[in-house]
Amino acid sequence: MESARAAAQTLACARLANDLGGITASNAAFLKSPRQLLIDGRWVPAASGERFEVRDPSSDTVLTSCAAGDAADVDSAVAAARRAFDGGDWPRMKPCEREKLLHRLADLIEQHADELAELEAIDNGKSVLMARHVDIKHAIEVWRYMAGWPTKLEGKTLPISGTLVPGQQYAAFSTREPIGVVGAVIAWNFPFLLATWKCAPARAAGCTVVLKPAEETPLSALRLGELIMEAGFPKGVFNVVTGLGATAGAALVAHPEVDKVTFTGSTEVGRLVVRAAAGNMKKVTVELGGKSPAIVLEDANLDLAIAGAASAIFFTQGQVCCAGARLYVARKIFDRVVAGVALQAKSLKLGPGLDPGAQIGPLVSAVQRERVMKYIGSGLQRGARALAGGKAVESRGYYVEPTVFTNASADMEIVQEEIFGPVVVAQPFDDFDEIAKMANDSIYGLAASIWSRDISRVFQLAPKLRAGTVWVNCHNVLDPTMPFGGYKQSGWGRELGGEAVYSYLESKSLCINIAG
Ligand code: NAD
Repeated sequence: MESARAAAQTLACARLANDLGGITASNAAFLKSPRQLLIDGRWVPAASGERFEVRDPSSDTVLTSCAAGDAADVDSAVAAARRAFDGGDWPRMKPCEREKLLHRLADLIEQHADELAELEAIDNGKSVLMARHVDIKHAIEVWRYMAGWPTKLEGKTLPISGTLVPGQQYAAFSTREPIGVVGAVIAWNFPFLLATWKCAPARAAGCTVVLKPAEETPLSALRLGELIMEAGFPKGVFNVVTGLGATAGAALVAHPEVDKVTFTGSTEVGRLVVRAAAGNMKKVTVELGGKSPAIVLEDANLDLAIAGAASAIFFTQGQVCCAGARLYVARKIFDRVVAGVALQAKSLKLGPGLDPGAQIGPLVSAVQRERVMKYIGSGLQRGARALAGGKAVESRGYYVEPTVFTNASADMEIVQEEIFGPVVVAQPFDDFDEIAKMANDSIYGLAASIWSRDISRVFQLAPKLRAGTVWVNCHNVLDPTMPFGGYKQSGWGRELGGEAVYSYLESKSLCINIAG
């Protein structure tokens, strides 16, 4: 029965790869064969034999199928990562050799950048151009930046006084050691990039990793696994278990042999992860939801602010944790700015990720489209006005029109809750002194942007915003050197920068009695 189903799926995949005629031969071949788990350097089926389908969001057709790993597969993958950490060469590899391997991987990703972008566009629905010039480009930069760290993880000589035992003299040092086995669970909105944000610093620190990608978008993580093996990383250093959150994800974050959990996803699931991780007191980084404000002050360059506010929310269909989903505009310029953003919303061309002319792709899944439409319905029902959009698009793909709401009150769900779709809610403000309070009126605190030409106002406002990143006259700008993460319920810890690397390291103090 299972093999008949697998054969039918293989046939469907082959047909689809044919339909997607324009895709590269390597991606067509990748989609043709059902995908397996990467455990201890080998591609293996799930112990249960179960599989799940991966769908193309632009047409609701099956792309391929993946092994549905569960607790048994997580056990095997964690055991492999444990062996590679405890007994393998990896944590003891010379820093310069680790650096070389990381660069080799970055080179391979660069060589395959176009195919990776294409795979991401097919799997997630995002624009292939954005995938190439944002997701994959940034991922390459992150791997290279992290490759520089192994040779720079210095300790300190500590000037201790050692007064507790009279007459003794001590020398003391601090060193850094990798935490151990890392369990990484990620969301579907930037699949390759989020895998990179977790795996690159963990690898730079000398940890081993078991990655559980989102079930909606597992493909680029599996391709990353292939490239990691090709680069020559020792077996067991990187393992991928595809599967569902409630089974594979839950087993990984609760596993007693995992030393650190790093999670990107919703705040709701983040809470479950934190609870599960407490079992053996794992170290935890959680990057969670957001409802970021974009604040346009009266003196802003309006052309820049309008284009910026529109792209802050519509980039990747608004499925961005730091999307500018709440737009606050000084009342005097409110109508002009909001009309400009609505005009941009109406002019965006909808289409599949593979269409290089498409500016808005489908949402990632039918479930996500339903969730976004529920919020739009609730906004309309409670009296908000849609200046643009407000509807799903009649199509087999999961498209939702870019939507701009006005006439909303602060207590509405569309203002308070993360929609994670192409929906922005614009509200006017009268007084510069009230805007920080309005912007901070959220359980989230991931990011914010200020649009202004008045540097003193910018410096007055930025420190008042309870957010991990504040952009000025820009939004959604990321860089490998710039730590990214949230205040409040947007999470614990930071991705990127040195802060990310240190979050995969333990600090050890070494104290020597030199009189002995
Ligand atoms: P989600 O929380 O539903 O799922 C995220 C991951 O967790 C998936 O891999 C899923 O399989 C897994 N999972 C589900 N239940 C689990 C469980 N009980 N135990 C362990 N793992 C489990 O989130 P999503 O819908 O995939 O992604 C959207 C969310 O991610 C949004 O809230 C968005 O803001 C957030 N996000 C945050 C950042 C950031 O850096 N702060 C970046 C991207 C996305």
